[in-house]
Amino acid sequence: DFKSRAVAGVRGLQPYQPGKPIDEVARELGLDPSQIIKLASNENPLGPSSKALEAARKALDEMCLYPDGNGFNLKQKLAARLSVSPAQLTLGNGSNDVLDLVIRAFADAGDEVIFSQYAFAVYPISTMAVGATGVSVPAKEWGHDLDAMAAAINDRTRIVFVANPNNPTGTAVGRDAIVQFLRKVPEHVVVVLDEAYCEYFEGDEFPDGIDLLPDFPNLVVARTFSKAWGLAALRVGYAVSSAAIADVLNRVRQPFNVDTIALAAATAVLDDEDYLQRSREVNRSGLRQLAAGFEALGLEYIPSSGNFIAVDVGERADQVFQGLLQRGVIVRPIGGYGMPRHLRISVGLEAENARCLDALKEVLESLN
Ligand code: PMP
Repeated sequence: DFKSRAVAGVRGLQPYQPGKPIDEVARELGLDPSQIIKLASNENPLGPSSKALEAARKALDEMCLYPDGNGFNLKQKLAARLSVSPAQLTLGNGSNDVLDLVIRAFADAGDEVIFSQYAFAVYPISTMAVGATGVSVPAKEWGHDLDAMAAAINDRTRIVFVANPNNPTGTAVGRDAIVQFLRKVPEHVVVVLDEAYCEYFEGDEFPDGIDLLPDFPNLVVARTFSKAWGLAALRVGYAVSSAAIADVLNRVRQPFNVDTIALAAATAVLDDEDYLQRSREVNRSGLRQLAAGFEALGLEYIPSSGNFIAVDVGERADQVFQGLLQRGVIVRPIGGYGMPRHLRISVGLEAENARCLDALKEVLESLN
């Protein structure tokens, strides 16, 4: 029995549940994979940037060499874009890796790590894996209750995670709220602002965590190339922090955690501003399309600042999920997040959103 031999934190872990893969669903339904659409993992529906694709293809020529373990070119480019020094950057195998690095670097058995109810699943998983205790603070109107989170800090607290915008709720907190919160956090506590979806944030007041770094040396901002930049398969994310924190994170980082293809594609995609703008536009209109569709169906949803919407489909959410699957539409049940009435639907292309809404209408009618 290997489960009983696993370290204490690992014994209590539930594995991360990713969106169902297209090939698996196609096999179950006896359909061709091309007939299935997946709106389950907050992926970019545009397909890759041509600049990223070209750079990735070229980088394949170097597959027998180790990658640049310090990601020199990508860090140079990112540092210039973000107006920080390369010494403030830590590259990760996706931003999940960065989140995990922060926990492994700063939390030990018996320590506490704070996050919000309905926050991203990787925070509790990595916290438990090191034997630390996750403290889940009740949400307010589905979003982070930053006052309550600050109040939950005690001598054992090592890290607080704030996802902005948050997954799976899509809620976001504004700049003033973040600053007020950061002022309350003692300096020995590391605050991670997880900005995986920041490029989708609408409004003039983007609460850019990187701007706040000079005032808060305990702040870590995590970002990713998986969403608006369209490189989810390649696994590239990064942390921006004080150079002192970056030094610590880079000590725990596996050598060569970001591969050559990923480094090349991420470096190249930063030159594709047009791709980023198209990602934002497609998302903006897709969010509107889905929201209007939910309203027409009489469904409540949580207004979203991300590239997905959590929609309340009622007590039979599991049957709605299955019904959508039968119709070749994969979405994400989020009962595991404590939201058993909601399904999380990622924004697709216009035709995909329309197909999803049509299928949803059919399924709801069939259940009535
Ligand atoms: N943070 C949040 C809030 C997310 O939703 C995700 C992706 N599901 C990530 C981080 C990690 O994404 P990646 O590892 O692809 O960068």
